[in-house]
Amino acid sequence: MAKDNNNNNKRGGYDCCSFCGRSAAEVGTLFSGMNGATICDECVERGYDVLQEQSAAKKKKSAKGGAPLRREDVPKPTEIKEFLDKYVIGQDAAKKTLSVAVYNHYKRILARGIDKAVNDEVEIEKSNIIMVGETGTGKTLLARTIARMLKVPFAIVDATVLTEAGYVGEDVESILSRLLQVADYDVEQAERGIVFIDEVDKIARKSDNPSITRDVSGEGVQQALLKILEGTIVNVPPQGGRKHPDQKFVQVNTNNILFVCGGAFDGIDKKIADRLNTRVVGFNQGGAQHIDRKNLMQYITPQDLRSFGLIPELVGRMPVLTYLQPLDATALRQILTEPKNSIIKQYVRLFELDGVKVEFDDDVLDYIVEKAQEFRLGARGLRSICEAIMTDAMFELPSSDSHEFRITLPYAKERMERAKALKGGK
Ligand code: ADP
Repeated sequence: MAKDNNNNNKRGGYDCCSFCGRSAAEVGTLFSGMNGATICDECVERGYDVLQEQSAAKKKKSAKGGAPLRREDVPKPTEIKEFLDKYVIGQDAAKKTLSVAVYNHYKRILARGIDKAVNDEVEIEKSNIIMVGETGTGKTLLARTIARMLKVPFAIVDATVLTEAGYVGEDVESILSRLLQVADYDVEQAERGIVFIDEVDKIARKSDNPSITRDVSGEGVQQALLKILEGTIVNVPPQGGRKHPDQKFVQVNTNNILFVCGGAFDGIDKKIADRLNTRVVGFNQGGAQHIDRKNLMQYITPQDLRSFGLIPELVGRMPVLTYLQPLDATALRQILTEPKNSIIKQYVRLFELDGVKVEFDDDVLDYIVEKAQEFRLGARGLRSICEAIMTDAMFELPSSDSHEFRITLPYAKERMERAKALKGGK
């Protein structure tokens, strides 16, 4: 501070910064204020940086749910669905179920706060959710989109990396490590968060026979998961990974954490068909004409999840069961162009950044949809097909002089054929 005291004295105390003490000769500009106070340009800049950091930290905290939840902050189920509609095509049943579940989750948290002071006669229990639907139908997208609008911490984890304690892989507790990380290690925030567990079908028992010898990747993990879903106090390694004897743990109560599980459950339609006493192929058999056999998923019940290999206790802990429809050509076409950040809009933007106006002919979009249906990857296939068609253009256009580029059907077909040839015809 007093670095330039001599200087200061020499100049009558007005010509050096009152904050850092540097003289007018050492700084760019010196601003004068009341009572002879001065501040140099660098101190102004530093002060500005500090304010920016503080405001960014505040925003980050409230985005992660740092601020206490207020009733007026809670979006209504219709508002949540409206938001989902902007990004996710179709899947109305799943959207409604999720909107209600998330809204109830908020209410439960709010009620807890009130109940603490008033009474706790009626405790609202949480209802974990399970979403079943073919790959690429939008399960993860729904979860991610909900996460965007939430004011509680939200983590997405993959069930395939989980193994029973003591085996190679991650302990089930690592799910909560993720949530803690998202909540900036604020345990209270994490305890009211939401976790999406993807690919939960991959931890299903491989056989219907429960007495089979221990199944490392299946039943053991389900048992471990069950404890967390039920609501208990878990010792969580804050950095995730495997538990280690010397590691410090954070205690997390999972009572209020909402779990949303998702999985493709490949082949579950056969279990549903068995139960409905009908067959997946063939029409008008067995006198159950009213059943839409092309889309058996809509008839899914918890019993089918059990036949698929989930233990009954775990199924019981996910009382809200919803399904996602397979995407038909119309839905795939809409996915290509309609959502706020649709794949086609993304390509147009990408080229726009290079000053190139790119246009897709209508029949190209139909062709992409046709190919996606052929590959049976749901909407997941759309992007890889677009990539195959667009890679050459993305490679060449930035260094060319063209400002416009039209993707025609022959162009698209030619690129697809070439990509197919490179991959050995598949
Ligand atoms: P999964 O059901 O396998 O979790 P994803 O949600 O990961 O599928 O979908 C893969 C990609 O396909 C998403 O990134 C998204 O671009 C697109 N997609 C899938 N379903 C939809 C949908 N219903 N509406 C819009 N885009 C979708």
